[in-house]
Amino acid sequence: MASSILSDCSSARLLPLRRALLPPRAPRLRPCPALAHPRRLLVAARPQLLPRPRRMDSPPAATASSADSADAPAKVIDGKLVAKQVREEIAVEVTRMKDAIGIVPGLAVILVGSRKDSQTYVRNKKKACEAVGIKSYEVNLPEDSSEEEVIKHIASFNSDPSVHGILVQLPLPRHMNDENILNAVSIEKDVDGFHPLNIGRLAMQGRDPFFVPCTPKGCMELLHRFGVEIKGKRAVVIGRSNIVGMPAALLLQKANATVSIVHSQTKNPEEITRQADIVIAAVGVANLVRGNWIKPGAAIIDVGINPVDDPESPRGYRLVGDVCYEEASKVAGAITPVPGGVGPMTIAMLLSNTLESAKRTHKFK
Ligand code: NAP
Repeated sequence: MASSILSDCSSARLLPLRRALLPPRAPRLRPCPALAHPRRLLVAARPQLLPRPRRMDSPPAATASSADSADAPAKVIDGKLVAKQVREEIAVEVTRMKDAIGIVPGLAVILVGSRKDSQTYVRNKKKACEAVGIKSYEVNLPEDSSEEEVIKHIASFNSDPSVHGILVQLPLPRHMNDENILNAVSIEKDVDGFHPLNIGRLAMQGRDPFFVPCTPKGCMELLHRFGVEIKGKRAVVIGRSNIVGMPAALLLQKANATVSIVHSQTKNPEEITRQADIVIAAVGVANLVRGNWIKPGAAIIDVGINPVDDPESPRGYRLVGDVCYEEASKVAGAITPVPGGVGPMTIAMLLSNTLESAKRTHKFK
């Protein structure tokens, strides 16, 4: 059972950790021949026996574009490595700012309720802040807090000059209206970039938002740092959520790509995706994007984080993306792994937005 799950992108079982979103019924694909047999799968997992996609130690000199040979395995866009570089750059800037003007950037995080996953995210953000020298402030409110209480804390951070970024950890308890709460964050401290005015500015020609949402910003940073040419290229974003798909499409368009958006009601998503030089997948459906959806040489950014059943893992599950990595990495020019691709970039971009905010407030170049 485990091996068939591991070997076949078409049969990965989603765990009920997340809303199960099943793709529209597509023609059933045969499992990858090289991975179809359980024993061969185990062999395939050993790097020394089968050529693996190249993991890049640094952004490439040449561009990762569709001009690359489709026969070569895809370059691995190593988000973990880039995120580390970004954090190091931020730490240098934080020190430079502190030494020059005595200001330390500050990030306030408001957590309502006691969801374990949210607590973990907040803890990780706090640790990441500490590691680069950003001061973090935390407010933990009980699940049954009122909207007014949350807004009161936001207002107090809005007027606190030592706080340059405010983040309200989502999801909020059901009795709260996300819109009311997110709208209360000053757009000048909206480091998540979710305020409608920031999104509106992102969408408008000739305007710039104060902040770009962290995950799509991380996707763009990966494309830039790996030398993927965007201008004039065809890009497809799969997913149109407010936090990832929609802003990612706006960013690609701002960078002069010709952008199509694929969503749950799109007819022939594979045909549209196959035209793309750049694909950003943010769906939440394990292995939705198969190898035959990919244009040879395309750059693939896989935002999806989906737990699938894996009895061989100590946790009983493992994380996979929205893209069938085994298949896509044989066709694409460059691809992000899951985990270790976009995920680490999100927190790095939050730190970057916080630093940017402090610099802007204090006119520090
Ligand atoms: P979301 O709000 O659930 O949005 C999913 C989007 O995918 C929707 O626009 C939906 O279309 C579309 N969709 C659903 N099924 C589809 C299908 N079969 N074919 C084409 N489109 C389909 O999810 P999200 O918050 O954007 O997150 C997407 C994924 O990214 C999740 O796996 C999430 O865990 C992951 N994520 C990762 C990070 C990170 O830091 N790496 C950050 C955020 C999210 P409709 O609009 O038509 O419903």
